[in-house]
Amino acid sequence: MTAWHQKTLTQLSNHLHQGDISSTALTEHFLNRMQEFNPSLNCYLAITADLALQQAQSADRRLKEKTATLLTGIPYAHKDIFCTQGIKTTCGSKMLENFVAPYDATVTKKLHEQGLVMLGKTNMDEFAMGSTNEHSYFGPCKNPFDLQRAPGGSSGGSASAVAAGLAVFSTGSDTGGSIRQPASFCHLVGIKPTYGRVSRYGMIAFASSLDQGGVLSQSVADAALVLEAMSGHDPLDSTSAHQPVPQYFNLLNNAPNSFKVAVPRSFFEAMDPSSQEAFKKVLEHIRSIGGEVDFIDFNIQDIVIPTYYIIAPAEASSNLARYDGVRYGYQTPHAKNLEDLYMKTRGEGFGAEVKRRILMGTYVLSSGYYDAFYQKALKVRALINSGFQEIFKKYHVIATPTALSEASLLKSHDHDPLAMYYSDLCTVSVNLANLPAISLPLMQRHGLPLGFQLIGNHFDELTLLQISHKLEQVSPWVDHLSPIKARS
Ligand code: GLN
Repeated sequence: MTAWHQKTLTQLSNHLHQGDISSTALTEHFLNRMQEFNPSLNCYLAITADLALQQAQSADRRLKEKTATLLTGIPYAHKDIFCTQGIKTTCGSKMLENFVAPYDATVTKKLHEQGLVMLGKTNMDEFAMGSTNEHSYFGPCKNPFDLQRAPGGSSGGSASAVAAGLAVFSTGSDTGGSIRQPASFCHLVGIKPTYGRVSRYGMIAFASSLDQGGVLSQSVADAALVLEAMSGHDPLDSTSAHQPVPQYFNLLNNAPNSFKVAVPRSFFEAMDPSSQEAFKKVLEHIRSIGGEVDFIDFNIQDIVIPTYYIIAPAEASSNLARYDGVRYGYQTPHAKNLEDLYMKTRGEGFGAEVKRRILMGTYVLSSGYYDAFYQKALKVRALINSGFQEIFKKYHVIATPTALSEASLLKSHDHDPLAMYYSDLCTVSVNLANLPAISLPLMQRHGLPLGFQLIGNHFDELTLLQISHKLEQVSPWVDHLSPIKARS
């Protein structure tokens, strides 16, 4: 029999509802595995065993009383960017090392209302800035497919936990690829919905016009279930959209019989020949389920990284101004006066990558440079968006790889931050245009996982999920296990 931690959310939900296992026993199974494997992976920053067992007990009551939903009793991992009342929320930073949020993020609240069981809070790059999880104050997290490699970032802990069988699914946030890229490197499904689909209330801000919460899971159906529970308008987030949330899960099997897929030639040509072959195989599967594939010209690859790395740091420099050592978070014990307090608190509390972003962001917003950099980047962002809109006049979805290479070796970007920035080439444009996108574990490079990305039009997560679900059926991936997950 397949071990419990090798099953998908939808499979486990059936087992819970049929009484094959209780949520308490399932939770204990995961907590035991976390104890065994977390020391080598470092994917959890906090293990919330007491809370998890309490939540599991009340889930068992709901299951007995028949008031359970499909998510009730499922153990999951929560990215440490989401506020959790009474439990530390560090955002991977020394600045918030001892910060206990006085309230729950809307995402936390919605998930817990479903009766989900939170196993712990996951490791991440500090303030979600990074692509390898190596910028966490709490040390790097490892990729369960190869412990010498990074799991991707910034939601590295979330990806590593699910890929290692230390959670059924996890939450993530995606400002420039932080859900999709770790999903790609850890052989998972990762969905970033349209900006505004999921409330940002209580999700610690990095770049507010780009940040969006989402899901890392083992199957498309799992992602559909969780995304549905997370989504919806929230009066506490003025940028959350007044858009009805479709029944993603119930409508999964209603994919269009025929649909049109655009492949930007520039992204295809950026891959090496072996990845191009792998990509073409997926296109064959897409054709077999009714997709009509066209290669198109969409040459944004030279402008997306500079545009993103102006806008995101600009917004970050403003958002992170709040960490002044006065209101909450780290405060230096060495201050001589108020100015000294600000300088030392921020100098000691932030790590190198965060400081680099604050410096870049402050620079591009400063007088004399504002028009040349920030304003110009906003104009280019508008052009990128209209370029996508032109494509969506003719096509249902756009296909690209999620990344050009597999997970990097730890420390390989240490002396070259630009190389790390360029690894976001295939993901950042989606955030700049506020679009939804999904990474599917359909490719490999050098024997390691590599994601295939589908991008949809605004608020059309449903089509993305439906096509992905159909693709999963002709090209299943859920049996591909990491070495750690394979251990029962
Ligand atoms: N890697 C990108 C960055 O460092 C994206 C991060 C994210 O999506 N949070 O900015």
